[in-house]
Amino acid sequence: MQKINIIGAGLAGCEATYYLAKKGYQVNLYEVKKINRNPVQVSNNFAELVCSNSLRSNDLLNAVGTLKEEMRLLNSLIIKAAEFAQVPAGGSLAVDREKFSSYVTSKIQSLENVYIFNQEVTKIDYSIPTIIASGPLTTEKLQKELAKLIGDDDFYFFDAVAPIVTKESIDMNIAYRKNRYEKGETEDYINCPMTKEEYKLFYNELVNAELAISHLEADKDFKYFEGCMPVEGMAKRGEKTLLFGPLKPQGLRKPDGSNNYAVVQLRQDDAKDSLYNIVGFQTNLKWLEQKRVFSLIPGLANAEFVRYGVMHKNNFINSPKLLNEGFQLKNNKNVFFAGQITGVEGYVESSVTGIIAALNIDRFLKGLDLITPSSKTVSGALVHYIINANSNDFQPMKANWGIVDEINNIDKRQGKIIKKAAYSQRAITTIKEFIKLI
Ligand SMILES: Cc1cc2nc3c(=O)[nH]c(=O)nc-3n(C[C@H](O)[C@H](O)[C@H](O)COP(=O)(O)OP(=O)(O)OC[C@H]3O[C@@H](n4cnc5c(N)ncnc54)[C@H](O)[C@@H]3O)c2cc1C
Repeated sequence: MQKINIIGAGLAGCEATYYLAKKGYQVNLYEVKKINRNPVQVSNNFAELVCSNSLRSNDLLNAVGTLKEEMRLLNSLIIKAAEFAQVPAGGSLAVDREKFSSYVTSKIQSLENVYIFNQEVTKIDYSIPTIIASGPLTTEKLQKELAKLIGDDDFYFFDAVAPIVTKESIDMNIAYRKNRYEKGETEDYINCPMTKEEYKLFYNELVNAELAISHLEADKDFKYFEGCMPVEGMAKRGEKTLLFGPLKPQGLRKPDGSNNYAVVQLRQDDAKDSLYNIVGFQTNLKWLEQKRVFSLIPGLANAEFVRYGVMHKNNFINSPKLLNEGFQLKNNKNVFFAGQITGVEGYVESSVTGIIAALNIDRFLKGLDLITPSSKTVSGALVHYIINANSNDFQPMKANWGIVDEINNIDKRQGKIIKKAAYSQRAITTIKEFIKLI
């Protein structure tokens, strides 16, 4: 029986194990937790949800809701477990985390061609096809081994992410396009101007806003480095600090020539020009607080946040440079990556990449071309984003409609709900077609 090694029995590793065991492979699944837990892990079970117990929206109008439906059709173990362990949470799929992880663990343990090794992988056996799914908390020894494989420069250890909003939700009656000092031929940045009063209001809310419970504090050696200072941390150094940093108004006069007291800049984040990140706004505020405080920025009152800022110790690789669309390492065809380590963000997103990597390692071993769903699906759009993002400034991405291929012939006068329903319907039809190919 052909052997496959999978490193990490988290969300992605368990999805991949389930898929490949059912295809008849001998899966050797390695998990370190029983012998050495990270401070944020509390259980010995597989697929531990280390923070929130929510897999977010179940609504098909929401991209992550449609992603779940795609995964249901792809026979996802994680979605089965979540539905088994579901607790009431409005339109979200929230779970009893113990029940959820126990379900996944017992399903994996019951597969007779799965061999479980409770050990830390410190060396990769390149003679055996391998999926690396060791997640954001990859152990230090494995980090060193991976750095040897892909190079130090393409293995990131820290994730300081600024929020991203959709372009269409920015109020361009208030915001305007301009590059600082009008440098460059095109006007790349969207600028949100502030008066002194607006700045003061924003500043006071920012410095008093509620912080996310910092799992960074669990790590006694952790210190922010200057380039990744959270915006609220910078603000707390003094009322004017931001005016000399990310909110510097110089060179950004309004189109009518008047000056601003402060300016927040947003930079294009995707090739399609549908998403913008708020420059310098990496933050550790709670997500609801981010929505509340950042909506005080003129022009962002109704901003739709497709990703909130996060500050967490994380490991992810430079996927756009290192991987092909099957999540296979370009310079070592026996190695595949899955999960958050590829640069997707979130439980559901990490899980689906386990399926994508698994179906492709199966195809690779059968001598077939590697395949991924098209960007008309949410799963495919995520893969294409990760693989085609700018490798010089690669940052993790969550499921959202902004990365999915546009529907060109949709009537512009139709409301958002009808548009999202059309995107969702097309994604589901497309994934059904894709499933016929695998
Ligand atoms: C502190 C923290 C909080 C988060 N909160 C949220 C949240 O609220 N919502 C959300 O959607 N996402 C959250 N995330 C992101 C979340 O971790 C991922 O979405 C998801 O768990 C990643 O899945 P994964 O399969 O890639 O990794 P994991 O689920 O972390 O699985 C990787 C597994 O590999 C094991 N492993 C690591 N190194 C080795 C080794 N050398 N040998 C053997 N096994 C190894 C680990 O013990 C772990 O079990 C959070 C991440 C962190 C770090």
